Amino acid sequence: MKRLLLLFFCIHFLSLPEKVSAADPVPILIYHSIDEYNGHGSKELFVTPENFEKQMTYLRDHGFTLLTFERWQERKRVHKPIFLTFDDGYKNNLTVFTIFQKLKMDHFSPTGTFFIISDFIGRTNRLSKKDLKMLAQSGVISVQSHTATHPDLTKVDNLDYELKKSKEKIEKITGKAVVALSYPYGSYNNQVVSETKKHYQFGLTTTPGPFSEIGTKNELYLLPRSYIKYSTSLADFVKLVEGNKN
Ligand SMILES: [Zn+2]
Repeated sequence: MKRLLLLFFCIHFLSLPEKVSAADPVPILIYHSIDEYNGHGSKELFVTPENFEKQMTYLRDHGFTLLTFERWQERKRVHKPIFLTFDDGYKNNLTVFTIFQKLKMDHFSPTGTFFIISDFIGRTNRLSKKDLKMLAQSGVISVQSHTATHPDLTKVDNLDYELKKSKEKIEKITGKAVVALSYPYGSYNNQVVSETKKHYQFGLTTTPGPFSEIGTKNELYLLPRSYIKYSTSLADFVKLVEGNKN
């Protein structure tokens, strides 16, 4: 009898499904300009439209699901979730919208998040109110906040203006909720995080790496992001987005 019981337990345990592992890390990418390098500013903050299109084509052809932060919960249900973010609100980010539309297919709906500096809206080389409204209403681009004036948030007195006013201004333009903030220069401290929590559901840093959920208190306000640079080859890109799956 004892032996039978033992046998039963052995069979029972052997037939148990493999232990469910924690969710796979989710890549969050950060871009700035999508344009040919024009000789101004840091070259590494540019990605050429040609390279960007190749990267997006890779994501399309390898089953990725592009998400925005309003759809955060979907990361657990969709195939190969990934978030694309674009900081600083450059006019050349309209190319992102064009390439997304070009690559759109039945099974692939590209989408991304533009982080806008609200006091810079409409300046030369920056997206205008009209652009932002069109982008947000298209449902293709989520327009979110990168503060009002792009300061180092750990060094400003008026956090309310940078966090709350920028959110309100962008919401007024797009008619949609602003739920995410990207910290200029990736700079934050405890006070910045606690103020951000009052107005946003997410805070994005520039700490490299994919997001791995561990359940720590402020993890949604310390989201890591991986830079895609001028010098990033397609092979580098694949390594970043596939993690250790390949
Ligand atoms: Zn920035």
